[in-house]
Amino acid sequence: MSIKNPPSRSRIIGNVLLTVGSLFLLLNLFAPQLFGTPIPRMPYSLFIDQVEDGNVSRVSVGQNEIRYQVKTPEGELGQVFSTTPIFDLELPKRLEAKGIEFAAAPPPKNGWVSNILSWVIPPLIFVGIWQFFLGRSGGAGGPAGALSITKSKAKVYVEGDSTKITFDDVAGVEEAKTELEEIVEFLKSPQKYTQIGAKIPKGVLLIGPPGTGKTLLAKAVAGEAGVAFFSISGSEFVELFVGAGAARVRDLFEQAKKKAPCIVFIDELDAIGKSRASGNFMGGNDEREQTLNQLLTEMDGFSAGDATVIVLAATNRPETLDPALLRPGRFDRQVLVDRPDLSGRLKILEIYANKVKLAPGVDLREIATRTSGFAGADLANLVNEAALLAARNQRTTVAQADFNEAIERVVAGLEKKSRVLSDKEKKIVAYHEVGHALVGAAMPGGGKVAKISIVPRGMAALGYTLQMPTEDRFLMDDIELRDQIATLLGGRAAEEVVFGTITTGAANDLQRATDLAERMVTTYGMSKVLGPLAYEKGQQNNFLGDGMNPRRMVSDDTAKAIDAEVKDIVEGGHQQALSILTKNRDLLEELAQKILNQEVIEGEELQSYLGRVQFDKPHALAV
Ligand code: ADP
Ligand code: MG
Ligand code: ZN
Repeated sequence: MSIKNPPSRSRIIGNVLLTVGSLFLLLNLFAPQLFGTPIPRMPYSLFIDQVEDGNVSRVSVGQNEIRYQVKTPEGELGQVFSTTPIFDLELPKRLEAKGIEFAAAPPPKNGWVSNILSWVIPPLIFVGIWQFFLGRSGGAGGPAGALSITKSKAKVYVEGDSTKITFDDVAGVEEAKTELEEIVEFLKSPQKYTQIGAKIPKGVLLIGPPGTGKTLLAKAVAGEAGVAFFSISGSEFVELFVGAGAARVRDLFEQAKKKAPCIVFIDELDAIGKSRASGNFMGGNDEREQTLNQLLTEMDGFSAGDATVIVLAATNRPETLDPALLRPGRFDRQVLVDRPDLSGRLKILEIYANKVKLAPGVDLREIATRTSGFAGADLANLVNEAALLAARNQRTTVAQADFNEAIERVVAGLEKKSRVLSDKEKKIVAYHEVGHALVGAAMPGGGKVAKISIVPRGMAALGYTLQMPTEDRFLMDDIELRDQIATLLGGRAAEEVVFGTITTGAANDLQRATDLAERMVTTYGMSKVLGPLAYEKGQQNNFLGDGMNPRRMVSDDTAKAIDAEVKDIVEGGHQQALSILTKNRDLLEELAQKILNQEVIEGEELQSYLGRVQFDKPHALAV
């Protein structure tokens, strides 16, 4: 399906070897004596004997070798022999005594060969590396290939491929699919939209952890719309030569416009799209910046009347992207591709289980239940591992036991990345999240609780509770802030109420609650004890960096008072959370079980639970 192939690496290495080889051959032809018949080597003692017997006419003493020429019986010069010198200070005297002509040898003749080689080989290696890189960026063979640095090696997938991928091949990411269906429509019949004067979006950014199907989705969009698909990875842009990346982007879009309507897919966008501000201190990475600028130029370049080229890009680190990429007219649409929940995992398993022979009685639902935190790629891998196990055991179908063993294997691989929870951890996370949700529902200052999930997300969060502001807010009062602090402590409070122990899982909550309380006291002047003073220094006084103490100089007493007040506020929230959860203990239990069963709860279903929260809000009366 890919039309272009990069030149094979082994061919280039072959070239280099060939060149070095022929060099040796040449040296051999022009300087046969260097490699000619070797001089017979004699033991040192024999050499001394010959000297003593007066059989030697000339001697050349070298560092590593002594050569001597014997006399023929007729007194003429005879054969040359060599011997290895030993530490013998007597030698000159002996030679002199016998009237033998002797001299110290110049550095061995062979020396200049190694000399030449040491001059010739490094450049050769350099040329080899050069060729390698040129070849890598150059594309097809032929003498021109080596020089066309700029040629894009975007792979092209075209409609009608036997391997055509459609939305049916992707499961468990329904929201992303729904959003992308619209893109398919744009590609299929752009006139429908341009007629009314609507602008077709140029860029769609797929955001999600590795292996969740971003690349697959991009291909599926092309497959569904039946258009050409150009794909290139961000890391491929970043090359040795400054300017090559930018030229490649230009070339890629040139090709794409010829094939329009089509999709240009840029995988690993973060490799080129890193925020320019976060570049290193010494001026950042020129090459990446140029590539990024070219990409922005190209995206701005094609306008409404132009051919329909939609740029899809994927990243798992959206936070590092340059804000310029996210501006309207660029990647202004963002589609979240998250790890699948229980029902999503079941659907993905069904897709892959269809491709292997299942033994009767395999329960995919149970497998889905046990694979919380798996991404689509992990599930595909799981089914394959199970099939391999079955084959290894000479069975013709894949049994439940194979899946169970395969899960253990895959989990062992994933555990290093801390993505898979044990049953006990899962239970703790469930109660923790429900704790946030119930306290959040009782103390609505933080917004409406919209979703609870115990599907692990990203690296840190094991579960999450999503609170949505009910309206746009620019100001918050102290009661709302206290509500937020209580909600943040709801997770830990639930662990205390239910398990009587405390885990490490609440560290981030505590950090946020403490920060919030500290700001209430030192920045917003919300503490009755400390009064309306700003203890925090303004930003402008702090521009020298983190080394400086952000707090105004305060007396020890004041510092103590601030600490005490911050602690009071956080502890107040903690007690509030504890009392709400104790009061709603049954509801906590019920909702946690529900979450454990289905992993995600939102919408009407969630609201019907949260509506049952009993709450009394003592400090609200104090207003
Ligand atoms: P990403 O680009 O998000 O890192 P990929 O699209 O490369 O992930 O996924 C790798 C493979 O894993 C896919 O080729 C497919 O076989 C499988 N896969 C991942 N996610 C899904 C999914 N949601 N549905 C079906 N298969 C998936
Ligand atoms: Mg990918
Ligand atoms: Zn929490």
